[in-house]
Formats: sequence, C-alpha cells, structure tokens
Amino acid sequence: MSKLTLLFGTLTFSLGVLIAATSEAQTWPASCEGKPPHYLAGYTQTKDQIEAFNQMQLNYRNSWIDSKNKARAAANFGEKTELTFYGHTVVLYLPMYRRADGGVYYYTGVDAVRLTEKEFECVKDDLRQWIQQAIDADYEDHKSITPLAIESFAKQSGMTTDEVKELLPKPIVEYGTTYSEVYKIPQLEPADFISGVKYMYFTPMGSCNAAVYLQSVVIFTPCVRRMDHILGFSSVIKHELIHANRKLQGMPLLWYFNYELFAALMPFLEQPTNLDDFFYHSYLETPWEALRVFGCFDIAKLRKELFRYNVPWGGNAMNRELLTNYLNEINKATVWLRESGLKVLAEFYSDPRVWAAINDMSHDDDMAYRVIMAKLYEPTCLGGHSKTVRFILKHADESKSIADAAWERVGKNRNNMGDDRREKAFRDLMRFAEVLGLNEEKLARLGRAYGFRNIDPARVNLDTVREILKDFIMKEGPFKISKEVR
Ligand SMILES: [Zn+2]
Repeated sequence: MSKLTLLFGTLTFSLGVLIAATSEAQTWPASCEGKPPHYLAGYTQTKDQIEAFNQMQLNYRNSWIDSKNKARAAANFGEKTELTFYGHTVVLYLPMYRRADGGVYYYTGVDAVRLTEKEFECVKDDLRQWIQQAIDADYEDHKSITPLAIESFAKQSGMTTDEVKELLPKPIVEYGTTYSEVYKIPQLEPADFISGVKYMYFTPMGSCNAAVYLQSVVIFTPCVRRMDHILGFSSVIKHELIHANRKLQGMPLLWYFNYELFAALMPFLEQPTNLDDFFYHSYLETPWEALRVFGCFDIAKLRKELFRYNVPWGGNAMNRELLTNYLNEINKATVWLRESGLKVLAEFYSDPRVWAAINDMSHDDDMAYRVIMAKLYEPTCLGGHSKTVRFILKHADESKSIADAAWERVGKNRNNMGDDRREKAFRDLMRFAEVLGLNEEKLARLGRAYGFRNIDPARVNLDTVREILKDFIMKEGPFKISKEVR
C-alpha cells in the first residue's frame, strides 16, 4: 500500500480547493408536500461520501424490480405529460404509470403501487425539476468552452478573438449556413442541451441506465434518478443531455470521437467525488490512464487494495479506513481531472474537424484527449517528474524507434477493416431500433421501402441514410404509418 505514492508535483492544484462535502439539502416541488417522490423513498442524501458509495450499491441491488425489466420505450400506453424548458416543449412518457379506478398505479412488473393524484403530480414535478437543474448545470459546466475555443482558434489562424467572434455568426449565403456551423465551434446557450429533444421516457431499460438516440429521444430509469438523488446533484441526466446537444455531439462529428468520454468529463467528476464513478465508470478509463501518467495515481491498484477478498463493488468487504485515508487525495485527483478535462474540451472544440481527423488517422477515438493532455502536462509516473524525465532521456533512442514505428501506421488502413465510422453509426441505429421494439422482420419491411433487400452497412449510400433519418424524425415516408414509431 505504501508504494502507492501520490505525487502531484507538476499538477496545478490550488491548495485551497474546496473539497467540503456541500451537497445542499434537496428542496422538493410544492406538489410533493415536503416528501420525496415515491421512487426515492428509502434513499437518503448524505454528506458522507463513503455512505453515498454504499447507497449506490444498495440502489443497484434494489433496482431490479422497476429498472431492469424489459425496456418499455416507445410504448404507446401509460401516462404522459408535456414539460417545457426554455420555451421548448418535450413530451415525457411514463409507461409505468396507468390510471385505474380513480387512482394512478405504478406498475413495476412484479407489483403495482397505488398513488394519489397529488403523489403523481409530485412525480412529474420532480422529474421536471431534475431535468431543468441538469440543463442549467450543463450550461454552467460548458459555457467557458465557447470563449476558450475562440481564443485558441484565433491563435492558430492568426486572427484576433474579436475577428473570430464577428466571423462565426456570419452567413455563407451560397450554402445556406454560417461559419460557426462549418468550423463547428459551439456557440453554447442553455437551451442547446434540450432543444433537440422531442420525447423522453421514464422506463425500465433492462439495466440501471439512461440513453439518448439521434439527439431526439432521451430514456432513463428510476435507478438513475435515484443515483442523482443520492449524490445530491444531477449527474447521469447531465451526461445524457450533453449527448443531446447537437452543437457538442451532433452527427456526423460524434462518430469521430469518444462521445462517452466527452460526456463524462464534467458530470462524472464533480465535487464531492462520486466514488462509484471514480473507481468503476468505464467511460473514465482514459482519464484514469492520464492520472497514472501525469499524477502518479494508480486507481487500479487502489481499487484492489480497497476491497478485502477482491470483491468488486465493496459492500461489507470494503476497507473503510483505507478509503477514508485516501479520500482527500481522491477528491484532489477528481478536481484535477475535471479542470484538465475542460481544457481538453475547449481545445477539441476550437477545431473539431482537425481533432476528428487525428482520431481517425490514429485509429483511436481518445487520441485527441491523449495528445492535448500530453501538451498540457509532464509525465511523473516513474516516481516524480525529474526521475521520469531522466528515464525518458536515458531511453530516448528506444522511445524514438517506438514512436517511428507507431507513426508509420498513422493514416494507413488497418487490415480486415471496413469503414469504422459507418459501422459505429449503424450500431447506434440498430440499438435504437431494438429499444423501439423493431424486430428484424419489421426492419426488413422498413428497409424495403428504401429499396434494400438486405442491410449491409458497408454498402448503404450515405444519402439514403440521411433520407431515412429525416423521415424518421419528421415522421414521413414509411414512418408515417408505422405504429411502432412515434
Ligand atoms: Zn453516454
């Protein structure tokens, strides 16, 4: 254990960083009459990070009933309501709630809970408040990307920031677009995190999960609502609404970077640290690597030491004392990962097409993150900065030959590979189709309307894909009559 030295020598921590666990007491909407909505009963918000970690595990275990059942997204039954955010209206479907004999029942798949009208109002108001807070917090987290990206773009293109600011909103008349659209430098507004969304579903998904499809449909389980409740701030829903923001994750750009990583850097690295995400959320894998290289902090090693008998997800096997001792360092590490993450995002969005090309050429969707981090920080992973630099210099020739061999492969096609991007896009769409309840036969029927006999991603014309997506979103073509699709 003592070998796990934490050397943050070259990292930019301000020592006064406030790590205090200050999650504010939740205020419930008026209709809730001072109580949480029914699906949050039994979970308490706590300022104790370790206790919150335990509650997370409890939530995973207890959410089988209402969150891990078969997905009911796109189900044309149950209650629904309209929610308005920044003048934009979203239809929220609640397929688990049905009206019967003068009450509203919450059907979990194994039983039904009867709610009063007032209690059902509280459900809708709570979800509304949760989503609204997420939109505002997402904007707060990301708003500095716009000026930082402009500054970086100005530097690279030899313009002043004022010149760039003036240029971006200008129309390019012949193409019916603006410079900002072409350069893809996001001019962020709070509404961008919701304005693309048409439908939301509060539904089981077969797992403790949430997802966004085509930036238009957001689905989430009671389980993830509970997670954010335990934490005392919006986290999972913020992650989803970043996916829904077309300026940050619009197609086709999102097929060229790790959109899960980019939607995790801000919401999953908040203070006080969510230990569950810090240790286990796989979207943070590349940041874990950065922490090891630049911060000499080995999460994998700590994770192992934390649990007696090597039991994952702790519970009683957790070494509480060890975790308590590391808490301060863990919180500092999260603050650094988040600060550096924001710098990465700002740099990426100063010229997303260039970074997309770098990812593509290096066959690594995290390459932009890795390169920008390496430009910003010095490695310390071999027992401090000077020792690490000494090692690098001593082995300079070997490093160079490895780098040369790697560079040799950059930009070249890999063996046995089709078009990565097309396959990624198709995978996303097929997953969406599955959630919508479109089985293979129905898909084949829809496909025939576009002249497909079978669907081979490598052969589909991109204009056809565009046409299908447009028809789907506008409910035109074969989607006009398909009952399965709203
Ligand atoms: Zn995601």
